[in-house]
Amino acid sequence: MIAVTALASITGRANAVRIGQGFDIHPFCPGRALVLGGVRIPSEEGLAGHSDADAVLHAVTDAVLGALGAGDIGRLFPDTDPRNRGRDSREFVREAMRVAEARGWCVGNVDVTVVCEKPRLAPHVERMREALAELLAVDPDAVGIKATTAEGIGEIGKGKALAASAVVLLARKEK
Ligand code: MG
Repeated sequence: MIAVTALASITGRANAVRIGQGFDIHPFCPGRALVLGGVRIPSEEGLAGHSDADAVLHAVTDAVLGALGAGDIGRLFPDTDPRNRGRDSREFVREAMRVAEARGWCVGNVDVTVVCEKPRLAPHVERMREALAELLAVDPDAVGIKATTAEGIGEIGKGKALAASAVVLLARKEK
């Protein structure tokens, strides 16, 4: 009954919430720093990519843009643009948040899953949550980050790549 009432209160306020999802995958390569969720993580290898290859922030950026119907990270920040080379991916999230705020939305919560065989992310999850919370202007308890493995299956399972998916809920800002 509570759920029905909550749903009625949401549907009664047209366009009160938006949901978006994002996904990203990058291959590992030697000689690069591993940056995930805006946090540098000790690792033998980093991720290959045009920017700093932060797959978590790329998935989060796409989730925010998706909720807004505002295109995707590749459209906003093409990898053919030399200005995006080696770029700090926190700037991508900040730009997506700028668009969200300009349109009257704020983040309700975000939930991220990272899939990789290595390195072990558990020791770094709290720092990643805090970094994401700051970027998205929410409390850390509105940020979920889970790490899992691919159980040896496929390229991710062989430790050759890392994938991240994110779901973001946007809420109408109070006027
Ligand atoms: Mg990417």
